[in-house]
Amino acid sequence: MPESRCGLLCTQCSYREQMNCPGCVHMSKPFWGDSCPVKSCCEGKGREHCGECDSFPCELLHQFAYDPKQGDDGRRIEQCRAWSKENSAV
Ligand code: SF4
Ligand code: SF4
Repeated sequence: MPESRCGLLCTQCSYREQMNCPGCVHMSKPFWGDSCPVKSCCEGKGREHCGECDSFPCELLHQFAYDPKQGDDGRRIEQCRAWSKENSAV
């Protein structure tokens, strides 16, 4: 099961304990705002994570992944790819 919709590894996130966050896929509302557009979009399409989406990697996900402050240089996009590979190997 993926840890997040966008490919972020919640288990490696420094806010997890600090904010008592259950992780992206286990919460209805992120601790940092009313909603996450990536989470909402992905769940709205009924996908487990963005890597399962026909539009992957879309402009919105790209923006999140390469955001100068909150992004991770595209690592979450690679993580979605890795999850998709794991799934197709089963
Ligand atoms: S950015 Fe959105 S989709 Fe990604 S882990 Fe956070 S809440 Fe989930
Ligand atoms: S890749 Fe983009 S369009 Fe597809 S589920 Fe994720 S955010 Fe939505």
